[in-house]
Amino acid sequence: MHTGKVIIAGAGPGDPGLLTLKTAQYLQQADVILVDRLVSEDILTLHTRTDAECIYVGKQCRKGLSVPQSAINELMVGYAQLGKLVVRLKGGDVSVFSNVLDELEALVDNHIPYEVVPGITAALGAAAYAGIPLTARGYTTAVRLLTAYTKDVVSDDYWRDLAQTRDTLVFYMSSETLEDVVANLVRHGIAPARKLAVVEQATTPLQQVTMLDLYDTRQPWKDKSWKSPSLLIVGEVTSLHERYGWVPNGNSNDHYFPPIAGAAGLVVQPSKVA
Ligand code: SAH
Repeated sequence: MHTGKVIIAGAGPGDPGLLTLKTAQYLQQADVILVDRLVSEDILTLHTRTDAECIYVGKQCRKGLSVPQSAINELMVGYAQLGKLVVRLKGGDVSVFSNVLDELEALVDNHIPYEVVPGITAALGAAAYAGIPLTARGYTTAVRLLTAYTKDVVSDDYWRDLAQTRDTLVFYMSSETLEDVVANLVRHGIAPARKLAVVEQATTPLQQVTMLDLYDTRQPWKDKSWKSPSLLIVGEVTSLHERYGWVPNGNSNDHYFPPIAGAAGLVVQPSKVA
């Protein structure tokens, strides 16, 4: 049998309408879909064949629940060697805070043909749906995509730089370390006009935007737990949300993406997903 092919594709940040046409076309042809946690179930219901095999390989590392990368690589390579068309569907974009390099390496090592299809990354989805133009004219000329998911991932020198630049900062995977992010930026004297927006569940019907003043002595972020997934946007541009935000805050406490509950790796037919 011929070797199949793997399509590594981004599914966008949440709203199923933000899927690219190219990824939708590949999903319609796919025999096997390996799906991340942060992918809307509607995308699978709308765009996959009923006889396609959907395998959930989501990760939620902070909770210690995840399908090991080696298992994902084996599934990808194994199905392609059986001649299948495999779509490896990742949340947001494929190249922003994802393990795409490990997957590319496994594909190249095993001589599996592949294509990579970009997706809308969470920062761009959140910026659009929260009315926060990331490089608004007159505010800033640059944006940085970052993470501070553990205390030591950003050095002290770099915190100083982040506090002093006018660039917009977008932190991924950092809502659980928000207190730390605030403390580091304040310690290095960030300008008070650079406020912080937390965007929870961006682009979904449950999206919630919360504006924080980093010098607020009541520290309303203390002990607050934010819904997963959440992004932090820091910069003067966040003040534009008040005037240009066009999506009302969702007023539900629900999760758009179901948290992983030990079911990772379960094989489910798409027809049963809805
Ligand atoms: N490859 C993805 C990022 C994966 S890392 C992308 O390009 O978007 C996972 C992190 O992305 C989450 O912890 C969160 O910080 C962010 N994220 C993903 N989807 C999001 C959403 N709908 N709303 C807010 N943040 C999101």
